[in-house]
Amino acid sequence: MTNTITDNLQFENGNRMNGLSKEQRVQQLVPLLRKVLELLGEDPERKGLQRTPERWAEALLTYTQGTAASPEDHLRVIFEMDDDDYPVGSDDMIIVDNIHFTSTCEHHMAPFRGTAHVAYIPNPQSRIVTGLSKISRVVTLFARRLQIQERMTQQVARAIDDHLEPLGVIAVVQAAHFCMIQRGVEQRESTTITTARRGVFLTKPQLETRFLEYLRMQDGKPDVL
Ligand SMILES: [Zn+2]
Repeated sequence: MTNTITDNLQFENGNRMNGLSKEQRVQQLVPLLRKVLELLGEDPERKGLQRTPERWAEALLTYTQGTAASPEDHLRVIFEMDDDDYPVGSDDMIIVDNIHFTSTCEHHMAPFRGTAHVAYIPNPQSRIVTGLSKISRVVTLFARRLQIQERMTQQVARAIDDHLEPLGVIAVVQAAHFCMIQRGVEQRESTTITTARRGVFLTKPQLETRFLEYLRMQDGKPDVL
């Protein structure tokens, strides 16, 4: 399954912070961002830049709108599978792959973008699963924060582990970092891969092998960028 997340995803708790509405935060950011432009040697009054601080402020709030949001907003919608539907004693996994995301590196405030691939094995006791789109939303939620890729990967796995209590969960994230590309530190083709495993994925390496085999079944290989 390929998931495309729109840029307009709203998070229930992500719009208010420090007691301020989104509009109030934009208002307070504008003079600060004008000052940044000045310090870069720019004239904030020149035509092309007049509305840039406002647009920049709104963009920054979008990039970070997952900061105050909780994965519970998405993972509280769960389903219990029927006895008939649930394969007894199975290691069968639910995989959502090619979840495209763009996040912001907290060290340079530059974007990094790529794809996440997630699999979990429902617990035969609770038989709890969630809607497939919820997994994509959880990835997007954590991507919409100031991030490092390693932490984002762990947060996705932990959220699924905490809320669905599966037998196991694995998240693999592959991304290109513009703080490196733009500064010429890294070749354009180079990407970073991070993984997070919980539950049976820690103790049964054959499950990870099978997960990676499923990913390769999709058009030859998983999407990168
Ligand atoms: Zn960076």
